[in-house]
Amino acid sequence: DEDIALLGTGDLDLDEGGAPEVLPVLAIVGRPNVGKSTLVNRILGRREAVVEDVPGVTRDRVSYPGEWAGRRFTLVDTGGWEVDVAGIDARVAEQAEVAIELADAVVFVVDATVGATSTDEDVVRLLRKSKKPVVLCANKVDGPRAEADAAALWNLGLGEPYPVSALHGRGTGDLLDAAMDALPTESAHGVPLPQGPRRVALVGRPNVGKSSLLNKVAGSERVVVHETAGTTRDPVDELVMLKGVPWWFVDTAGIRRRVHQTKGADFYASLRTQAAIEKAEVAVVLLDASSTLTEQDTRVITQVVDSGRALVLAYNKWDLMDDDRRQYLEREIERDLVQVQWARRVNISAKTGWHAERLVPALETALESWDTRIPTGRLNAFLGELVAAHPHPLRGGKQPRILFATQASTRPPRFVIFATGFLEAGYRRFIERRLRETFGFEGSPISISVRVRE
Ligand code: GDP
Ligand code: GDP
Repeated sequence: DEDIALLGTGDLDLDEGGAPEVLPVLAIVGRPNVGKSTLVNRILGRREAVVEDVPGVTRDRVSYPGEWAGRRFTLVDTGGWEVDVAGIDARVAEQAEVAIELADAVVFVVDATVGATSTDEDVVRLLRKSKKPVVLCANKVDGPRAEADAAALWNLGLGEPYPVSALHGRGTGDLLDAAMDALPTESAHGVPLPQGPRRVALVGRPNVGKSSLLNKVAGSERVVVHETAGTTRDPVDELVMLKGVPWWFVDTAGIRRRVHQTKGADFYASLRTQAAIEKAEVAVVLLDASSTLTEQDTRVITQVVDSGRALVLAYNKWDLMDDDRRQYLEREIERDLVQVQWARRVNISAKTGWHAERLVPALETALESWDTRIPTGRLNAFLGELVAAHPHPLRGGKQPRILFATQASTRPPRFVIFATGFLEAGYRRFIERRLRETFGFEGSPISISVRVRE
């Protein structure tokens, strides 16, 4: 079978005819230099340049698709995040906290040759508090003589330490078996059911105005904390009334508790953003209308699209707009945001509150698109007409025929086309464009995959 996804939707996997499967998340947590990145490489089974030789180099990629014994999961890697020596303990704990929050199960890596340090014990406290399943990896046990070092880690009270040499691969199989036992089959971070208030994340690079906007829309009095709703929501989520309708603003603690800007803050922010996006159904990506679009901005947008969440773009600080900037902005949008032309843009000022109320209809539209299901009959009628008018180009005397299409899932909409041969990328993009022209999908990523049938 040929199976090509047009738009990657990250960890969402196509389960034919059903809802998208959301893979459970396994996080690798531990102090710097205990061997987390080496272990990640080992688990991913490839020698990617994940172990950084250059200090201070941070990677923006946070999660990778992993597989063990037929089980698939998302691996969250916190290695390679350089912390400055002064604040090292605090930063390790902070980093671990986010990773643990993201995870369904945690592999906690300790350097067995060093033994448990006080920083390790800080992380143990966080792990206990989280009540997440933990597998203890006693790393750098390169040979049988070091096994005793591993045994000493029973002291941490996290159960059996698995002696591992991430470097040589020793013991990693047993460790992964234990991790698979600890990992639930479906992620708790999965797309929640469409009941109750919808879930929205405010994301964007530092200083773009997230906390200003949150304060503007939530006020301080009108925020209803989770306990009142009688739900078991995360306390970092806030219930906010917008025009009389409640919305969950997820992961707002990360916005309210401002993260200091130091080395590694980028990576931390990226992890935080990913956590927020994964808890949300729709993300508002804030952009600063008064300054140039940066790579960090487009990266956040990509994170939302890759996670398969609905998207609204909010150009904030519009009060600082002038004619010169406006002209430049239009060119910038055409040049850098073509990939997300389908997302609605709202111009706002978090400072004055100007147009903030326009966010609600944009959010509603995006979610409506995200939830949309096109009946199979209608979809095939549409494709039939399209193919009749614009057949796939002939290549080498062959012409793939489209047999049938169906929408395999919603949230976001995913389509599967069955064809007699490979469909060219250009033609698939053409189909996507026409799908959007015909059915809308404003504010939602969609994906099209092709299965080849003889
Ligand atoms: P991280 O900062 O936790 O991601 O640690 P790294 O994966 O970058 O590893 C730190 C150092 O420990 C590197 O020099 C690795 O080669 C080394 N290392 C990692 N795993 C092992 C192991 O199992 N045995 C030995 N001897 N060294 C290891
Ligand atoms: P965050 O880091 O994304 O949470 O950004 P903040 O909400 O802390 O805002 C960063 C800075 O931008 C602060 O000085 C805000 O007062 C300012 N700011 C936020 N929104 C606006 C806006 O709409 N207009 C103007 N002029 N300044 C804003």
